[in-house]
Amino acid sequence: MSDTPQIVDEATAPVGGNDPTNPEQRRISDVFGENTFSLNNLQEYVTESTYEKIKGVILKQQQMDMSTAKHIAEGLIKWALRKGVTHYTHWFQPLTGATAEKHDAFFKPSIDLEVSGIESLSASQLVRQETDGSSFPSGGLRATHTARSYTIWDPSSPAFILETKNGKTLYLPAVFISYTGEALDYKSPLLKANHALNIAATAVCQYFDKDVSHVFSTLGWEQEYFLVDEKFINDRPDLLLTGRTLFGGKSARGQQMDDHYFGTIPVRVQDFMKEFELEALRLGIPILTRHNEVAPSQYECAPMFEESNVSVDHNLLIMHLMREIAIKHKFRILFDEKPFAGLNGNGKHNNWSMATSNGRNLLDPGEEPGSNLLFLTFFINILKALHDHGDILRASVASEGNDHRLGANEAPPAIISVFTGSFLEQVLAQFKTDGLVPAQNAEKETIDLGLTKIASIEKDQTDRNRTSPFPFTDNRFEFRAVGAAMNCAAPMTVLNTIVADQLQAFKQEVESLNADAENVERNITTVLQRYMNDVEKIVFNGNGYSEEWEKEAEKRGLSNNKTTPVALKAMLSENSVKLFERQKVFNEKELHSRYEVLIENYINKVGIDADLLQEISRTFVLPAAYDHIDKLSKSYRSLKEMGLEDQANGVITNVTEIADLLDDLRDCLSQLKEAKEEADGIGDIGQCAEAYASHVKPVLGEIRSVVDALESIVDHRIWKLPKYRELLFIR
Ligand code: ADP
Ligand code: MG
Repeated sequence: MSDTPQIVDEATAPVGGNDPTNPEQRRISDVFGENTFSLNNLQEYVTESTYEKIKGVILKQQQMDMSTAKHIAEGLIKWALRKGVTHYTHWFQPLTGATAEKHDAFFKPSIDLEVSGIESLSASQLVRQETDGSSFPSGGLRATHTARSYTIWDPSSPAFILETKNGKTLYLPAVFISYTGEALDYKSPLLKANHALNIAATAVCQYFDKDVSHVFSTLGWEQEYFLVDEKFINDRPDLLLTGRTLFGGKSARGQQMDDHYFGTIPVRVQDFMKEFELEALRLGIPILTRHNEVAPSQYECAPMFEESNVSVDHNLLIMHLMREIAIKHKFRILFDEKPFAGLNGNGKHNNWSMATSNGRNLLDPGEEPGSNLLFLTFFINILKALHDHGDILRASVASEGNDHRLGANEAPPAIISVFTGSFLEQVLAQFKTDGLVPAQNAEKETIDLGLTKIASIEKDQTDRNRTSPFPFTDNRFEFRAVGAAMNCAAPMTVLNTIVADQLQAFKQEVESLNADAENVERNITTVLQRYMNDVEKIVFNGNGYSEEWEKEAEKRGLSNNKTTPVALKAMLSENSVKLFERQKVFNEKELHSRYEVLIENYINKVGIDADLLQEISRTFVLPAAYDHIDKLSKSYRSLKEMGLEDQANGVITNVTEIADLLDDLRDCLSQLKEAKEEADGIGDIGQCAEAYASHVKPVLGEIRSVVDALESIVDHRIWKLPKYRELLFIR
């Protein structure tokens, strides 16, 4: 059977016809990208030479110059005005974690009384905008008296139009930097890391294929989320303000039946999915996959992978669409890493690989990986980079939300290791001792059920391992430790930088051997073999959730930084500072400022949880418990009057149970107050964050368990806070 895709024709045409001008009858291929200024529609609006130049910038990583940018901007303005756009904005990614925008009108009123004004915009306004950097988190890089900052258009990520009922706005993806040139965002370091990777990986590719002119990283994210019916939101201040539940007793039924994963998607949810997917497709986001996830009310979507910078933007954009469209469908979407205790949290798996200018996936092992030196070169160098800098990659996914997930028996542990599968593990072992061994691929196994009606299938070379933070699957790695609410740019920046640095070091080692004896293949093999001891330390194919692995990892010298304050310190290590400076991704000042922003974010998040839990305890939980006691005392009196002594005494037992819990709650609340005040008094923010992690957070856990115990005994009619079973099972 040939593997060439067959074009599906009539089958994809919506019911009722196949007329692309009729909105009811359009296929996905008709609407895909209609709201983006992609290369396709750019061609119509710019000259041939500008088109070639921008193609070079986007597809070949060539340098953008101001005059080309202006030509594209002119075309873009024409396109946008023709589409009925009234406003435009730079769309950037400050360290808040959210995206930012400020809309300006194309319309310029005229001072000449005879004309009202015109729609116009100069290209340079489109390329660069000035803004107040001090109002965004900058970790001390900007202050109110030195606030000037810029956003600069990134034409390598397609501009797009967002529509609301009353108008259309043109969005231009942009970097955000200070007046002094430091990064204030997630995009600019990613672009720098991508540049470093391109240089280093292309140089290594040249050993194998002189035609490779550039290399880029590819990213295909899988986005997990929960949906909750909006009618509960106002009664759950925790969901409203923090995006996750700070308390809530276990629902008798949770995910133990294993019946949600890939289950039938409820119709109401499908309607929501179809709407946001259609909007995403119109914006050129190649969204393809949807399914139920493990927990009740948990779902996932995934696109076809793209160049990593574009893929990051598309992830942020789709999260925006999903939030908005969920509201339309009377849902609230929860991207938080751990919205519900006791159930799976939300991850964002980052499938990652590298591709060459001539269309080759550098992580494709081919039929015979043992003799595929190109594959082994990239594969082993990546493993070596992870071995040397695993702690920095771990830091890139550190957040308060993700602390609830990593290592909590559902997501990978905080130890960075790689699952290769046993076949590749053998290949590596043999390579270590014997070098290249041709034709050693495993016999292709088939699964034959012996049923005439079911085709026998070829087995994949590797199994799946959901417990590994960094498994290799078929022809890519899957970084599974990324949190669902995060910007993928942070981990992609680190990954691309550490791999670039390693490839550069590798090339130098090979070159120094070449200087003695020019035998490239042998020298590459020798250098790779030198890495094997380190590489073996990072490979782990067993159960990453087990305690044994933690112990084993410690013996192997792998880091296991469980909390954000500890994990983030790795950003400031000498190793990290040198690495990022060498690759020109961050200077030391930028690293420190970023660390500061992230650590403050952690403190603020835990602080908000603490304040909110105090408030909920006082304004919802205590009054509910008192009301319940009131009711009980009435029951007590009635029972007494009726002479039912035993029953009346039973009521006293109930009251005592509640009173004990209320004592515990009061104790916890004063402990919380003390712990927080103490932490807030610590001047050093790193130590302050650690105090939050070790003294404030545990009390939050204790409060939670008291509140959950009360929830299980207080009269359901008095308990105003919607319970897990309502939040999770009403769809
Ligand atoms: P899973 O079976 O792991 O849940 P999904 O189908 O949900 O897989 O998602 C797999 C993701 O991996 C998709 O986004 C896909 O585009 C991406 N992917 C596949 N090949 C590559 C590659 N070479 N580089 C980056 N991402 C890739
Ligand atoms: Mg998936």
